[in-house]
Amino acid sequence: MHAVFGSKAGSSYVCQRADGSPIRVQSCGREGELLNAARVAAATTNRLLVPLPRRDRERFLAVCETVELEPDQVLMQAGGRVTHAWFPVDAIVSLGIAAPQERKLLEVALVGWEGMVGLPMLLLDGAASGLRATVVRAGAALRIAAEPLQSQLRESPPLAQLLQRYLLVAIEQMAQAALCTRYHRVDQRLVRWLLMTQDRTKAGAALHATHEFLAATLGVRRAGVTRAAAQPQDQRLIAYRRGVLTLLDPAGLQAVACACYAADLRSYAALMELAPPA
Ligand SMILES: [Zn+2]
Repeated sequence: MHAVFGSKAGSSYVCQRADGSPIRVQSCGREGELLNAARVAAATTNRLLVPLPRRDRERFLAVCETVELEPDQVLMQAGGRVTHAWFPVDAIVSLGIAAPQERKLLEVALVGWEGMVGLPMLLLDGAASGLRATVVRAGAALRIAAEPLQSQLRESPPLAQLLQRYLLVAIEQMAQAALCTRYHRVDQRLVRWLLMTQDRTKAGAALHATHEFLAATLGVRRAGVTRAAAQPQDQRLIAYRRGVLTLLDPAGLQAVACACYAADLRSYAALMELAPPA
């Protein structure tokens, strides 16, 4: 698998980090505007942490370490014990379920700065994961081990409430992914994946993604990817040359994506955009 994202700007906010340097944060679209400028201004880290009361956020960040994730790095093995939770900052992680007989790994979720990896740790200390977590975009993430996470969850009801809400979001998104794989065309699923990826990068409308990588991600043959990419290329919604995919018209892509993309945004907004936890 190989996916490296470029720096060409799409529709994006430009905000400042605490040190004054600019950051770009990708708009999440019309249907469910996940971000708003005020929150984005504070979003120098993982988005789940943004609504936390300042004291809770600072206490949490004090026990996290910042790690650089490499492409293809495996954070969780299916059947393996989950040792840490990760909160991506600008990395992207694919969660996949193995089909041993077919020797395939089907992606069931994509996690970027809007989410966390290691959900079993919210419920059971020392739990095993049924999913494999693989880094598909290099970048930074916050990492926390089991014991300090459990301690933070006890000490910070707002953190516990936020992560419980995110757990529900993740369950709904995985159910949506199952529906999408079963009922929707490959070209619609490809467009949905492109939009989801762009939302999770916080920057950039161009990405390197080989046919092989996209075929594995979507669970189809390489020829299926070629066919699926043809129509959005003809409509000038994307350009795909030498393994570089560029999103030319994100709004146009939303119009041709299957309904699952908007459904995911709605479920995230409905569960995460409630009043900030007390
Ligand atoms: Zn779909």
